[in-house]
Amino acid sequence: MRPAHPEGAVEEVRTIQHWIGGRQAAGTSTRTGTVWNPATGEHQADVLLADPADVDAAVAAASEAFQSWSQTSLSKRAKILFAFRQLVDARAQDLAEIIADEHGKVVSDALGEVQRGLEVVEFACGIPHLLKGDYSDQVSTGVDVFSFREPLGVVAGITPFNFPVMVPMWMHPVAIACGNTFVLKPSERDPSASMLVAELWAEAGLPDGVFSVVHGDKTSVDAILDHPGISAVSFVGSTPIARYIHERASVSGKRVQALGGAKNHAIVMPDADVDFASEHMVAAAFGSAGERCMAISAAVTVGDAGDGLVDAVAAKAAKVRVGPGRDAASEMGPVVTAAARDRIVGLIGSGAEQGASLAVDGRDYVVDGHENGFWVGPTVIDRVTPEMDVYREEIFGPVLSVVRVETVDDAIALVNANPYGNGTAIFTSSGEAARRFQRGVQVGMIGINVPIPVPMAYYSFGGWKDSLFGDKHVHGPEGVSFYTRAKVVTSRWPHVDNPVGASYHFPTHQ
Ligand code: NAD
Repeated sequence: MRPAHPEGAVEEVRTIQHWIGGRQAAGTSTRTGTVWNPATGEHQADVLLADPADVDAAVAAASEAFQSWSQTSLSKRAKILFAFRQLVDARAQDLAEIIADEHGKVVSDALGEVQRGLEVVEFACGIPHLLKGDYSDQVSTGVDVFSFREPLGVVAGITPFNFPVMVPMWMHPVAIACGNTFVLKPSERDPSASMLVAELWAEAGLPDGVFSVVHGDKTSVDAILDHPGISAVSFVGSTPIARYIHERASVSGKRVQALGGAKNHAIVMPDADVDFASEHMVAAAFGSAGERCMAISAAVTVGDAGDGLVDAVAAKAAKVRVGPGRDAASEMGPVVTAAARDRIVGLIGSGAEQGASLAVDGRDYVVDGHENGFWVGPTVIDRVTPEMDVYREEIFGPVLSVVRVETVDDAIALVNANPYGNGTAIFTSSGEAARRFQRGVQVGMIGINVPIPVPMAYYSFGGWKDSLFGDKHVHGPEGVSFYTRAKVVTSRWPHVDNPVGASYHFPTHQ
């Protein structure tokens, strides 16, 4: 319940439940978190926060479901995936509106997120092909060797607020297609989309218990990390939590992939088309209010590219239409919470205090009619140096820092000195510079005149260094590998009339 009036009268808000065993579940915990509407600043719902008993209930349902789901034929699994794909596509607008209401991003951007999630479902629809093993005939006389992959069991996904549909879809369609059962712990800041996704899985014919949702916070996450019934954990979120998840889940014997935060640099060469580069830079820095792990947060201008780029970016940044996500005219929405806004505004101030110059200042931004929303306007900070907080911190807001260097090698060195290695891009008309950059940077995903180089679903997504703990990227071939383990069978069927004698030395091939 929330106080609705200063006089103290209270108004009910809905409570978002868990999804366990194919239905909504109230669980045992009475702890709740607040779900805000970032465009209005209203407390729009409460979400249950699971305690270990709730996690245990989800794992029990998932363990039971694994017995039959792991034995379900590939064609039956593929059929359910195709049906799920159809349903998500049909409900894309509903999902996008739910995302806009809880995350704050604009509906058109949320639709793009759903589309990128759908592409992973489409990839997973090809599971019969993806799980084909190898076969070697007659490796030795009368001996054949073949391999195939089996699911792990119950696997869990712990996901961030910034892509409440797409990031979980990097995980569950692939895990489930491989024959695992899946427990999702979405972000407690925008939990509702996961409930609609759960309903769509059920409607598609997925058996009860194969996909569950437990909402929660650190207590719930720790229960997942320590649970002996969970075989693997996929995590996406900030770097300190990713590091923690990787360590704690590894200690409890789980397979772990933990994707962390980012500080993505876009290099602008003097030979780049300034109009093209600035337009893409603005979209990549301010789309989704900069709350993307692949957002460009540092523009690195080489040689004399700086002044022209800053002027063009500043002019375009000032024209970005900021407003509620539900308003079709908005290009950029609010940030997710008041705390996020205050943190971002504080970092912008630190840039000014530490000697950078604010080309566009988005502090004190207010949208008429939505004065209580969590707004930060597009911000461009010029003449940033690597020692400044705005460069060292992952701001995760609509803030573009411009760092000026002399040569492309200086730019590559700057990218490589940064602890993160998620994405990076170069704007240039020189193939030589682009090639030197793509080979020289220690980063997992690289764009050439493409500012946000998110790999298609049939490749795998992941960064290097502090942007990924564990060695497998998500979705694509590495996702299939993460959610399965290999068996290699060596077989011999000797003819009764011609038995093969055993020997005491190590077998050699004949
Ligand atoms: P976050 O790390 O705060 O939360 C992620 C998840 O961890 C949530 O489910 C949350 O409930 C849980 N969590 C939070 N604190 C915890 C704690 N102390 N112990 C255990 N669990 C905890 O991240 P966020 O703010 O939701 O998302 C933004 C971050 O995610 C950014 O750093 C962004 O770069 C990163 N991100 C990375 C990628 C990628 O692919 N590398 C993609 C999207 C987002």
